[in-house]
Amino acid sequence: MTQSQHVLQELYESYTKAAVNIISYYEMPERKNKLKELRDLVQNNCVQNKKLKSAETIKNRLLDIYNDEDDDSTEIDIESIIQQYKQTISEIDIDVSNDDNLIEFDKQVEALLDKIGNEANDEDAEMQLTGGYINVIDPISKKRIVDPVKNTLCGHTYDRDSITQILKINKKTRCPVVGCKSKEFVLLSHLRTDIVTKTYLEKNPA
Ligand SMILES: [Zn+2]
Repeated sequence: MTQSQHVLQELYESYTKAAVNIISYYEMPERKNKLKELRDLVQNNCVQNKKLKSAETIKNRLLDIYNDEDDDSTEIDIESIIQQYKQTISEIDIDVSNDDNLIEFDKQVEALLDKIGNEANDEDAEMQLTGGYINVIDPISKKRIVDPVKNTLCGHTYDRDSITQILKINKKTRCPVVGCKSKEFVLLSHLRTDIVTKTYLEKNPA
């Protein structure tokens, strides 16, 4: 993972933490409004990122053209390069509905809201939580999770230490949760801090 990817990941994690705070401290309807504001921010961030990435790709492509034509003595048609640049920039697709970071943000907020809903309506909320969305037992060590990370491919949560240890021993490790449908090998880049589980663990100490 590059430095900038790492910074970006921390940024998205802090958005999810902000969502946790909004849900904890605001009642409806303010909660809904604040969450909407936050989501707009996340979405805008995804758009800016996509634009940056596209601009970088275009720039590299133009540099390639420039370097190619440098070999022979033909003149570079600056005007057409600028036209092409403007054209491509205007065609950048800013739809981010498939953006992994946005999808992940929505999923975590949804899980948080579900949790609140369950706590309000169900006396047996804790049982339901541990059996449903929130699993506090690490599938690898079978102990209570300390630092939860979520596999973004299948949504299962592990303890950061356990999964990191396993991957050190065997890079070709599939999700250790019994019955998991994902057949992909687990990569460190697939793992994100599971803010929802983390919040739950903090609020419900062992
Ligand atoms: Zn899994």
